[in-house]
Order: sequence, then C-alpha cells, then structure tokens
Amino acid sequence: MDRRDFIKKTGLATILAATKPSDIAAAITQKENHDLKINIYVDPTFLQKIPEISIQWAMQTTRRFYENIGLQTEYPGINITYNLKGNINELSFEMPEQNEINLAYITMDTIREVPLEKLIRGVAGEEKAREYMEARKQIEKIPSLSYLDALDDYLIDKLDNGGTSLDKINTILITPYKDIQRHDIRKQDVQQAIGTQYGITLSHEIGHILGLEHTKESPNLMSSNKYPEQMNRFLLGQPLLNKEQIKKINEYFRN
Ligand SMILES: [Zn+2]
Repeated sequence: MDRRDFIKKTGLATILAATKPSDIAAAITQKENHDLKINIYVDPTFLQKIPEISIQWAMQTTRRFYENIGLQTEYPGINITYNLKGNINELSFEMPEQNEINLAYITMDTIREVPLEKLIRGVAGEEKAREYMEARKQIEKIPSLSYLDALDDYLIDKLDNGGTSLDKINTILITPYKDIQRHDIRKQDVQQAIGTQYGITLSHEIGHILGLEHTKESPNLMSSNKYPEQMNRFLLGQPLLNKEQIKKINEYFRN
C-alpha cells in the first residue's frame, strides 16, 4: 500500500487536516479519563466588597451557584464533580481521599483562627509542621522572641492573594478579593461577574494541586497575570493549558 492509499483507507488525511495543537492535547487526555471530586465548604461570613459600586455581596447562595463556578473550569479528560459540604467549621485541614480536593471559601479572619500548625502542614508538609511544633516548645520558653509572629505574618502573607493551594493536603482556600473593580464587571451582571472571577482563581488553584507551576506564557491559566486575555479566553471556554501542562496533569493521576 503506498502512502496515498494508506491515508485514504485510514482517513488519516482528514485527521491531520483537522488537527490543531489544542486538539492534539485534547486527544491525548481523552484516552485517560480521570475523576476528581471537589468538596466545597463555605464560610458564612464571606463577603465580597466592590467599592466602586458600593456593593457587599455575600457568598451565602445556592448550591447551583458554587457548582457553576466550578463548571467553568475546563480540564480536558477530567470529570470534576462538585459537592457542597456545608459550613467551613466542618473543614478538617487533613488530607482528603485520593483524587479529592477540599475547597473552602473562607475569610482571612477565619483563616487566622486555624491553628498555625495546620496551616504549616498544608503549605509546607507534615515534616515541617512537626519541626515547627518542636521549635515552638523551645521558643515558648523565650517570651521576647517574635519568631512566632514572624511565622504568622509569613503564612498570612502567602495566603492573602485571592486564592491559595495548600497542595500538601489537597486543599484550596479562596479568600475575598481585596477589590473587584468596576472594569472587571464589564457587561455582565454582578453575580455572574463575581462567579467568573472566582472561577478563574479556582481553575488556577486546581492547576497547582494537580502539579502545575506558574508560567510566563500568556494567555495561560497558570500565568500570574490574569487580565485581560486570560479572562476573555476563560469566558469563551477556550483552552488555557498547553500540551506540557496537560501531560503533567496526567502524571498526577498516574501517581
Ligand atoms: Zn498560583
């Protein structure tokens, strides 16, 4: 069989003609179907302030709303199911089951109530948390030392940026944005606009949990510069991950 016959018989030419890089990425992942379960916990004091239009908007809303935020996330080959668990005080800060992520919409005040040891475990892992507890025993004997305050500041600083993944315990914390400006609202209504903002943050943080790091590539879900291209593509449901990133995500599920 010569090459042309081969192509005719297999339909390969059609496939080649129709294949864009993003299709290739999708094809790779479609062979591997993974399930990911996301448990949602909501802080009843979560308020989003939009200063320019003087709105305070509570996150206490319907199950459908939280699921819709999640449904905006596009990870080819991954079936994500969302389960609204309830109040934030039921979040354990322990590792959930395999292929499971705990997601908390939480205020900074509530984060400050979490024992520091638990936060360190989430940010830096079990071993560091143990080291911290040991160091703490020693340091508590020296009252003038402000090491614990410094540590507290460091962690709060790391957390205070809209969203954070505690990848050692598969947990995502989403805190209220310091400010959502009027230009972010654009032509959408307020609830939809807020949903989209949190949607892209959530997608980015899921990326971290699945092993992705920041990239300078733009537009890309893992770029730290989210505006405006990322946002536009996200709204249109266009791919924001490259082939390498999708490969890496598949590795996460294989391990
Ligand atoms: Zn990030």
